[in-house]
Amino acid sequence: MPPKGVIAELGWVFARFFWGESEFGFKRHWSAWKILCRPVEEGGVGFCSLQAIIEAFSRKLWWLFRYGLSLWAQFMRARYVGELHPNQVSISPKFSPTGKRMFRIRFSMEMWLKWDLSREDVAFWWDNWSGLDPLAWRFPDLASNARVYDFLREGQWDHLTLAAFPSEVTESAADSFFCFGKVPDGLVWTLQLLGEFSTKLAYQVVRSSGIRLWTFVSIWHSLIQQKFSFLMWRLLHEQLPVDNVLAKFQGHGPSRCQCCSLPQLETLQHVFATGVLANEVWGFFGQSLGVATPSVACVRSRCYKWWLLSVKGRAFRWLSRVLPLLIV
Ligand SMILES: [Zn+2]
Repeated sequence: MPPKGVIAELGWVFARFFWGESEFGFKRHWSAWKILCRPVEEGGVGFCSLQAIIEAFSRKLWWLFRYGLSLWAQFMRARYVGELHPNQVSISPKFSPTGKRMFRIRFSMEMWLKWDLSREDVAFWWDNWSGLDPLAWRFPDLASNARVYDFLREGQWDHLTLAAFPSEVTESAADSFFCFGKVPDGLVWTLQLLGEFSTKLAYQVVRSSGIRLWTFVSIWHSLIQQKFSFLMWRLLHEQLPVDNVLAKFQGHGPSRCQCCSLPQLETLQHVFATGVLANEVWGFFGQSLGVATPSVACVRSRCYKWWLLSVKGRAFRWLSRVLPLLIV
């Protein structure tokens, strides 16, 4: 696993490439890379977070290790586990970087793993067959190396033996399902309907998710060039180089807009919504389709007016969604 410093440095390299450079050096990074890495519906631009990708692949390692069919899994088991159960092993400084990486995410991954019982040949205390996580985590003093079949009698739970344990154990046993077959007990990833591990889904789980905002979904469309969508994205995030935004970074100075015969303060709202030129452009398209907005309306409220417009027909709905991007 790459060190955190390397991951951070790679993030800088990606960001520098994305924002570009000029003869004066690297251009301003208007937004933090981690914000750009959010999905579009959460206000990002949908880049993937390198850190989250690595985390997802760490979980894939654990899945492959616990699935246990490959030669690599058998080797890792022989090297790190031996006669113990994988959940009994303590991380040692002698572990290889891959071993440490894999065992470090063990607890978060084991919560999502469940064993479907067929031969009942999984560890009663250390494997998650009950859906409650490995029972040994809840009852460490009771844990032993017993298998599930040690607690069965004639195809049924041996309730006399189970009665000695806390009610949580007996209840989880009662809720479990046996299929009594000859196939080995199956490992299931509970986050996926089919039970198979998916790196793509693991990525969604490990990244820190935020609030979904429909506004930002409206600015991206497959038929619209991404540079238009990104311009609107920067506008809604107030990340364009007009005087009132630059004043936050460079201090206040004289400000004159370029769009009016009588120059006014150059602000984002003036240039893109309330200025003479902006009002003319919004007004032209608004009159054509019957969308009226007051001349003092800000960019956001003008966009909302278009995006929430009740129109019939797929073409008109598409038009009402993309026109604000083209107007801007
Ligand atoms: Zn102006």
